[in-house]
Amino acid sequence: MISPNAAIRSTVSKCTPTSCSRDNGSANEEASLATCVHIDEAKDTQPRANGCEECLKIGGYWVHLRTCLECGHVGCCDSSPNKHASAHFHEDKHPVVRSAEPGESWKWCFVDEVLAP
Ligand SMILES: [Zn+2]
Ligand SMILES: [Zn+2]
Ligand SMILES: [Zn+2]
Repeated sequence: MISPNAAIRSTVSKCTPTSCSRDNGSANEEASLATCVHIDEAKDTQPRANGCEECLKIGGYWVHLRTCLECGHVGCCDSSPNKHASAHFHEDKHPVVRSAEPGESWKWCFVDEVLAP
């Protein structure tokens, strides 16, 4: 008598991330990170144009759009050929832009080169 001992061991080993809380509050020792005050002080300015203002004037094109949170200027990002967002910063000294891309809301400070989610 041969009893097929087909005991299939189904060890359920699920990877359940029980503690996925990220605590990054221990980076206070060597303050090499520049603390940006501009993003904190930035307003919630709405974009005043539907595209890069300078590119619309000259008939250029852009890759991504950035909204200046100081005056609502809309300029194109550094992946665009004309980089009007950073040009606007150099001209008007408005430090903080926000991404004008759909689904994105991060902010960028040109002065400190800090990205805020
Ligand atoms: Zn800043
Ligand atoms: Zn542009
Ligand atoms: Zn501006």
